[in-house]
Amino acid sequence: LSPEELLGLNKFVVDEEEPHIVLDKTVCARCQEKPCLYVCPAVLYTLKEGEMNFDYAGCLECGTCRVVCKDKGIIKWTYPRGTFGIAFRYG
Ligand code: SF4
Repeated sequence: LSPEELLGLNKFVVDEEEPHIVLDKTVCARCQEKPCLYVCPAVLYTLKEGEMNFDYAGCLECGTCRVVCKDKGIIKWTYPRGTFGIAFRYG
């Protein structure tokens, strides 16, 4: 299976009440490099008309965006609450 097909096997239970990743878009807008655009394996960070667009719903919980973000105040990151988040499946 291709990486995309493998990712498609995973199951997500999205917590609509408490996002496990929250961005401070005001501070985010001042970042020039925006490394999150290039490292997220699920491509959840995108620029839309110059503004950061993010959807936590497909998050693989790898933590990479939290690590590469230089201003630690921008991304508030926790694991999803119990029973929410990704369930990895390996085919
Ligand atoms: Fe993307 Fe990983 Fe950050 Fe989730 S934790 S948004 S998959 S980089």
